[in-house]
Amino acid sequence: MIGGDPLLSGFENPDEHGFETRAIRAGQPHDPRTGGVVTPIALSTTFAQENIGEPKFGYEYARTGNPTRHAWEQCLASLEMASHGFAFASGLAAEDALLRFLEPNDHLILGDDAYGGTFRLIDKVHGRTGLSHTAVDLTNPESIREAWNESTRMVWLETPTNPMLTVFDIEKICSTVHELGGIAVVDNTFATPYLQQPLSLGADAVVHSATKYLGGHSDVVGGAVATSHSALAEHVGFVQNAVGAVASPFDSYLTLRGVKTLAVRMDRHCENAEKLVQVLQDHSRVSEVLYPGLESHPGHEIAKTQMSGFGGMVSFRLKGGIEAAEKVAVSTQVFTLAESLGAVESLIEHPGVMTHASTAGSALEVPQDLVRLSVGIESIEDLVEDLERALATA
Ligand SMILES: *Cc1c(COP(=O)(O)O)cnc(C)c1O
Repeated sequence: MIGGDPLLSGFENPDEHGFETRAIRAGQPHDPRTGGVVTPIALSTTFAQENIGEPKFGYEYARTGNPTRHAWEQCLASLEMASHGFAFASGLAAEDALLRFLEPNDHLILGDDAYGGTFRLIDKVHGRTGLSHTAVDLTNPESIREAWNESTRMVWLETPTNPMLTVFDIEKICSTVHELGGIAVVDNTFATPYLQQPLSLGADAVVHSATKYLGGHSDVVGGAVATSHSALAEHVGFVQNAVGAVASPFDSYLTLRGVKTLAVRMDRHCENAEKLVQVLQDHSRVSEVLYPGLESHPGHEIAKTQMSGFGGMVSFRLKGGIEAAEKVAVSTQVFTLAESLGAVESLIEHPGVMTHASTAGSALEVPQDLVRLSVGIESIEDLVEDLERALATA
């Protein structure tokens, strides 16, 4: 067994352990020479062979397989309850590997709210080689049947979505897709496997930007795929090696380090987000708060059944329109004005001109009076005070 030999780690049957234990131990062998408890960063690009074509420990060449990367891949698979995990150099590289499962002239259905870069990859990169797509409102799973044609093979969804925090019913969507003979992929970046496990709800594959909550410290760009679908697993493994957009040993180490504290970080992200949602809801300059934890949120009941917490992302709209949104976004001090999300520090951004500029004019276009918060794990009093001060400028 590569990378996670239970004899070396003294940790057998990871799947019988709880989530937090698996995050810390699954796939992460102790250093066999020293007993070191941290998975070493293995920098070798090549590995000694006992005989021609007989590598000593299963490793030959580091694009194909690297011990630190394997530890992260096995840990991810364990957290998503998947048979296979694959680590990539970025979330988009992971998405690209899945999209390459499709043939030219195939058709893909995606939700009408998604990460801007996902839309750009589907539209501008895979679109050029013949993939067509239709963006539909997946809050109504029947819209999948309406958009389905004889070339449709895959449905791609995020939930909660970026940046509108719309919630889609994973189980219902996946069963519709399977009835029609397709494959369902869920981008689980916002929820993380701690709050939501799409494979257990019927998804064929889960994709992550590990740059966000999994890494969790704004210091590593990474991506991952988890799946128990054997044809997809074979395909993604092939593309990972054949194209080579792999996670580096150092990035794999950093991501594993981040994942060890995922559960405690997510608990605090959720707690802080819920408190800020109350502040926003009561504020006279705010016209709407988008957060799945609100009873008034249209997806609240679904979120309650498929998520164990509502996450650290909060979006809101301002009565004063784009000018007010821009003023708030530039007026905070504890919240940093920046793209990205999911790390310990709080961030604020204006999706219309920042992360989602590439969706302008498409079905995925976002409102201009929208502000998105990635709520971090700082002292809640500081976050409340900072946001209140910024809202006063709106
Ligand atoms: C950031 C993000 C991606 C892209 O991941 P990268 O690591 O930036 O390539 C995909 N999906 C979602 C939901 C994201 O937030």
